[in-house]
Amino acid sequence: GYYLEEILTDGNTYVGILLSDGKEQKVVRSKSLVLATGGYSGVYLRNTSAYNVAGDSIAVAYRAGCNLMDLEFVQFHPTAVYVEGKPGWLISEAVRGEGAMLVDENGERFIDELKPRDEVARAILKKYQEGHKVFLDIKPIIDKGIDFKERFPNVYNILKEFGLENTTKIPVSPSAHYSIGGVKANLDGKTDIKGIFAVGETACSGVHGANRLASNSLLECIVSGYKTAYNVYINNMCNKINYVNISNDVKSEKAMEKSDREKILKKIKTVMWNNVGLIRSKKSLEKALAELENIYDTLSNFCNVRYLKDLTILCKGITLSALSREESRGVHYREDFPTQSEEFSKHTILENNFKINFRRF
Ligand SMILES: Cc1cc2nc3c(=O)[nH]c(=O)nc-3n(C[C@H](O)[C@H](O)[C@H](O)COP(=O)(O)OP(=O)(O)OC[C@H]3O[C@@H](n4cnc5c(N)ncnc54)[C@H](O)[C@@H]3O)c2cc1C
Repeated sequence: GYYLEEILTDGNTYVGILLSDGKEQKVVRSKSLVLATGGYSGVYLRNTSAYNVAGDSIAVAYRAGCNLMDLEFVQFHPTAVYVEGKPGWLISEAVRGEGAMLVDENGERFIDELKPRDEVARAILKKYQEGHKVFLDIKPIIDKGIDFKERFPNVYNILKEFGLENTTKIPVSPSAHYSIGGVKANLDGKTDIKGIFAVGETACSGVHGANRLASNSLLECIVSGYKTAYNVYINNMCNKINYVNISNDVKSEKAMEKSDREKILKKIKTVMWNNVGLIRSKKSLEKALAELENIYDTLSNFCNVRYLKDLTILCKGITLSALSREESRGVHYREDFPTQSEEFSKHTILENNFKINFRRF
């Protein structure tokens, strides 16, 4: 299918978009654009996102002039199935609620499994950093006489796909799961550029604060989706869409090989996982910034790397936001500033040219 590559504006007003399927490009002119392209937890090495949702279009919107908000707030789910080289798949809280325990390779419990997501996730990560392995032990559920397959059919099917259906100790790791930040918008979808609207996980309206409650995101999608559609309609911003084919050849001699693009994508995700993940510090964030700058420099020599460039821009925005917020709040944890500070009881706005502004509203 076609991917959003550019948003075209005239000053502060939206005029159209540029789409590409990798072979040909199309310009679509319309009165308004509603971005509903998902979140950005896919920029982390371990994540629970669909493979093609990593937030590049948030960077496209940023390049078009939209401000971004609260990017440093990324929620990590504590218990995704973890098998090296395979995508993560989350095991819902309900399994821990039913009695499953978190244990290390010696069978030792190390955390109250029912604490908030960020606390449990950090405790698991620390175990990994100390060289341990972590498992979700479902034996206590079976010992209660509950048929696991019957009680959790979806989880059972996932375990089967991983070849883990006959084990009671499931290897788990925290995984980036939900992006609280995004394109700054209100609940009517309005962004800072006239004609551009953002809804769902792409948008950040502030409703999730610093730590989203489970299940509130779908609710937000419904509310903001409805309100945005209504807003676009009553403001007469619907239009017959005009397609224009343009004959740009997206291939050129300076195209980067697919295997090299894949390597760089993995590098970006690794930088984010290692340095801008669950536990951050000035040192780790500055390291990430330097590595992201290097990656961007490498990319600037090639013509077919728009996606990677946009992910690098977005990651730089996440990292700068995390660096600027010198406190710990909700899902944002700085080991060098471990407590919450009233001074930062504000939203982080990423403005043009990577300028950070803290605002209360
Ligand atoms: C495993 C899992 C379980 C979850 N469980 C719950 C739950 O129980 N309750 C709850 O409230 N929330 C849950 N969430 C979160 C919730 O599902 C998401 O926040 C929500 O689905 C986001 O919807 P969306 O429409 O904003 O984006 P998405 O559903 O991510 O859709 C984005 C779409 O945009 C497309 N796209 C992306 N980039 C481009 C581009 N450049 N050009 C064109 N198209 C593009 C993608 O292909 C995709 O189709 C869960 C999330 C996951 C991953």
